[in-house]
Amino acid sequence: MLKIHYSLDFELTNSIRDMALPEELHIQVRNLILKTKKGSVLTKGDVIAEHPAPGGGAFHAAAGGKVTGVNYHNLVVNCTGGDETVSPVDVNSMGKGTELLRTLQSLGVDVAPLTGKAEVLVINGLNPEPGVSVAQQLLRDGREELRAGVALARKLLSPNRAVLAVPKGEQVAIHGAETVGIRAKYPYSLDALVVRAVTGKEFPEGTRVINVMDLYDLGRVALTGLPITETLMTIAGHNYRVPIGTPVRHILDLLGLVAGPGDTIVLGGPFRGEAIYSLDEGVKKTDYGLFITSSDAIPAVQDAACINCGECVLQCPARVQPHLISRCAEYERFEEAERYGLNSCFECGLCAFNCFARRPLLQYIRFAKAQLKAKGQQDAQV
Ligand code: SF4
Ligand code: SF4
Repeated sequence: MLKIHYSLDFELTNSIRDMALPEELHIQVRNLILKTKKGSVLTKGDVIAEHPAPGGGAFHAAAGGKVTGVNYHNLVVNCTGGDETVSPVDVNSMGKGTELLRTLQSLGVDVAPLTGKAEVLVINGLNPEPGVSVAQQLLRDGREELRAGVALARKLLSPNRAVLAVPKGEQVAIHGAETVGIRAKYPYSLDALVVRAVTGKEFPEGTRVINVMDLYDLGRVALTGLPITETLMTIAGHNYRVPIGTPVRHILDLLGLVAGPGDTIVLGGPFRGEAIYSLDEGVKKTDYGLFITSSDAIPAVQDAACINCGECVLQCPARVQPHLISRCAEYERFEEAERYGLNSCFECGLCAFNCFARRPLLQYIRFAKAQLKAKGQQDAQV
C-alpha cells in the first residue's frame, strides 16, 4: 500500500536490478505507425513502430521472437528469439545535423528537444514524483551514460550554458554541466517549474529541458549504438531495468506483489500515473514506477459533480481553474476549456489528487488536450 507524501527524497539502498524477460511482450502501439505485422519474426532491436509526431523516437522489440497478435492497442511478441541483436550504429562518428538527428530518432530517442540551437540546456535531475527514485539512482549509478548524453546533447544544441538541476544540498556533478540545487518537493520536479527555478523565467525562449532518464538513454545510445528497449522503474522501493512491453502480471508474479480487491495498479507515479485496465498491459518507455494503491488510502476517482469548494484552484501551481476546465472537457466544450487556461496546465495532477469530490480532473484535462490535438491534425489535412 502506498503512503503519499510530497517529498522527493528517497533513500537508495541497492543498485539497479534487471527484470527477467517475460514469455510475451505486450507493446502498446495505439496511435503509432506500425512497421511490422502479425507473423513477422523479429530480432531484438528491430523497429516495430514509428511515432507520428515530428522528432518522436521509434519503438523497438525488447526481445527477438514472433509477432503473434496485433490490435489497435497492443502488439504481442512471443519471446523465442534468443540473444541475437540488431547491429549497432556508430552515432559518435556522425557530424551534427540532420543525419545524426534522424539516426537517433530511428534508435528511439525523442529528438524534438535536441533540435536547433539552444541558449540554455536544463537537465532535470529530480525524481519525477514522490516514491519514484529513478533520477536519483541514475545520478548515482549511471555517470558514464550521463556524461556521454551531455556530450551528445551539447554537440547537437551548442548551448551557451548547460545546467544540471538536483535536490538542494546534493553533491552531484556531471562533466559538461554546472550543478544547481533546487527544492526537492513535488511538483517542483516538473520540467516547467525546474526551468523557472534555474532561469528565473517562465517558458523562456532558447531554453531546452531534458530529464535525466532521457539523457541516460541518449548516452546509452551513444555508447552502444543500440536502440532503446528498456525503461527504469521504481517498484516496491527498488529500481529495475524493465524490457518495454513487459506485462504488469509478469512483474507482480516475479516480485511476489499482490493487488487485492478494490486496489488500483498505477503505471507512472502517484500523481501523474495512469491506472491499468488489465494485468496484461505492457509497460511503456515513460513508465518510471509501478504502484499498488488501496481505495482506503486513495479513494478512486468517480463521475461526481463539482461542489465548488475551490481546493483545486488553490492547489494549482499553473494558476489556472481546473474545476472550470474539467467541466468544459466533460461536456466536450474544448475551445472554452482553452480559454480557462487548458494549455498552461502542465499536468501535475495536484488538482485531481486534492479534489474532495474525487472528480477525474487530470483525465478530463488530458482528454481535452488530446481531442484538440486530434482536431488540429485533422484541420491540417483538409
Ligand atoms: S494538473 Fe491540475 S493542478 Fe496541475 S497544473 Fe494542471 S490544472 Fe493545475
Ligand atoms: S476540488 Fe473538485 S469539487 Fe472542489 S472545486 Fe475543484 S473540481 Fe470542484
